[in-house]
Amino acid sequence: MHNAALAASGLNDWCYEAMPVEPSRLAEAVRTLRSGEFGGANVTVPHKEAVIPLLDGLTPLAETIGAVNTIIKRDGRLIGHNTDAAGLLADLRAHGVRVEGREVLILGAGGAARAAAGACAEMGAGVRVAARRRAQAESLKEIAPGMQVFDLTRRDLARAAEGCELIINATPLGMWPQVDSSPWFEDAAFPAGAFVYDLVYNPAETKLARQARAAGLRAATGLGMLIEQGALAFEWWTGRAAPREIMRNAISNL
Ligand code: NAP
Repeated sequence: MHNAALAASGLNDWCYEAMPVEPSRLAEAVRTLRSGEFGGANVTVPHKEAVIPLLDGLTPLAETIGAVNTIIKRDGRLIGHNTDAAGLLADLRAHGVRVEGREVLILGAGGAARAAAGACAEMGAGVRVAARRRAQAESLKEIAPGMQVFDLTRRDLARAAEGCELIINATPLGMWPQVDSSPWFEDAAFPAGAFVYDLVYNPAETKLARQARAAGLRAATGLGMLIEQGALAFEWWTGRAAPREIMRNAISNL
């Protein structure tokens, strides 16, 4: 996606490469970013929070969310930013989903859930989080004050979802290769009329999305968010408008 965007923008001396990093070697990887000819980086699981103390600063949004998915280089300084939150809101808008004043249930409490909670709270939504580790979910209250916390159990899920208009899966359940898993228990009812957004984008159609559609709800998976968070990162790194259609085509042709 990024290499297609760089080529289409005439940035022929740029390239985007995957760099697998063991948790114990994160500091070393960040040192490499400083010394090499890097214009920036994306950061993904499990480094989005751990990378923060290794950087020189954070944008206010990354500071609020407490998770970094994009590193920008400015005058030799590494600045952590988060484009997941804006990427999610943009894709929800593209699906005609309003977040303002809605009750939103987020499943999971990791880096992406932090971005989703921050984005929804910022838009004036009522935020609920259901996660398997209660303490981790409680920590999101600093981002979304007034947020309600539930356990991600069959018993609690119905209560957590009651009256919700938007359900966001921010767990990796359903992601390839565990394509038969879902955070939604088989016999649990969905709240009537809710929109279900699954951050998982691989596969493009997840079990959760199928469950929601079978219950008569609208649902989407995270490909649009992936493209939008990438487009926003591209714009920070290069100062150019991101060619979103080219990025979408590049992903769709994978
Ligand atoms: P993360 O920081 O590792 O957080 C994952 C969360 O899911 C944690 O709360 C984790 O709980 C929970 N979880 C994991 N396995 C679970 C299970 N079997 N049952 C219940 N809860 C479980 O990961 P992340 O960065 O937030 O990413 C989460 C998902 O969002 C991934 O699939 C990622 O690909 C996707 N994502 C998509 C986009 C996009 O652009 N579409 C952007 C960001 C992320 P524990 O801490 O207890 O393990």
